[in-house]
This record gives sequence, C-alpha cells and structure tokens, in this order.
Amino acid sequence: MSSLKEQLTTRVKDYDHWASRRRYGDKGPNNRRLWVLACMDERLPVDEALGIHVDTPAGGGDAHCFRNAGGIVTDDAVRSAMLTCNFFGTKEIVIVQHTQCGMLSANAADLEAALRQRGVDIDGLALDPTLPEQTLAKGAFAKWIGMMDDVDQTCMRTVDAFRHHPLIPRDVEVSGWIWEVETRRLRAPTLDGSRTGRADVTCAQFGVKGKQPPRWS
Ligand SMILES: [Zn+2]
Repeated sequence: MSSLKEQLTTRVKDYDHWASRRRYGDKGPNNRRLWVLACMDERLPVDEALGIHVDTPAGGGDAHCFRNAGGIVTDDAVRSAMLTCNFFGTKEIVIVQHTQCGMLSANAADLEAALRQRGVDIDGLALDPTLPEQTLAKGAFAKWIGMMDDVDQTCMRTVDAFRHHPLIPRDVEVSGWIWEVETRRLRAPTLDGSRTGRADVTCAQFGVKGKQPPRWS
C-alpha cells in the first residue's frame, strides 16, 4: 500500500489538472466528453435522471450542462454546444426534457398578449443588448418563447435539430430522453400513447386551447 504522502501527491496533481483542464482545449474534456441540455425545472434532477455527476461531488465534472426553459434548441444552446463539441473535446449530446413541464402550461400567444398588456414593447425589443445584430423578425416573439404542444414530440425534434445543425460535428452522438416527474423514471421519447398515458405530456392536459405558434415548421 502506498504511503499517504504518495496518495496526497497524486490527488493534488489530479486536482490541479482537473481545475485547469479548460486550458487544454479538446485535450482537457469533461469526464464523459458530454454536453447535457436539460429543462431548468427544479423537478428534473439531472444527476439522478442520467446517472451522472455534473456538479457534485466536488471534483466530479461528468458533463457540461446547459439548462433552459424546456431544454429546447435556442441560439444560446446552439452556441454552447458548438463550443464544447468543436473546441472542448465533447463527443456526445444528451437532451433531457420532462413530463409536467411548465412549457406545456400555456399558449405562447397568450403569454405574448399578457406581456403586451403589461406595456412591454415586444416588437422593438433588443433580446440581447450586447448583440443588436441578432434581432427577432416582427411577429416571431411568440415562437421565440418556445412553448410546447407535446414534450415527446419536442424532444425528438430537439434531437433532430442538434443532429443536423451545421455547427455540430457529424460524429457527435445525439440522444433525447424524457424524465417522468410522476414516476421518477427515465424513458425514451415516444408518440405511442399507451407508453405516455401514465404522465402529462401534452399542453391539452393542462387545458391549453389551440396549437402553439409553429416554431418547428
Ligand atoms: Zn420543464
């Protein structure tokens, strides 16, 4: 058995490398060469759902993790995936969305109307004040919100969007998953109603009337 001094020497060396790994570009990837896109929802525990360690324990670091409302493709999700897949050694993308998602709970057109009623000037809005070049076309705001009709369908389309995105290398493996909040179970996305029946997966189940603005068309 090695001495404590030897063990500590190794541990300190390993930790120093871990702490400075981003200096090494694609030679200093995260532990699993993995980028995770997940909904921001507090009922979606990424580590438990995927069986990985993103934040804890300290010294973990299995993945780069990006969270937004819905876990959907957005410009900033693409930007982050582009960086990690092209320059930081990431070889796999895992997308995890979930049942009972807040993004199923309203029609985006109603959210837009509510903001207008509060006096927000949606048509003249600079989304990113540091990047005025990136502007939404007039009438695109409700689509930009990204509300969902069906989380399984959205998950599959999100996978497709990353799989075919010109900024994501073709050899990056992309998969999508649904976390069932009700059962604490991970499953593949499906349009088979008999497999989604035990959980709320559509906006109709939230009483939302009509289709969402067609973000994916
Ligand atoms: Zn959600």
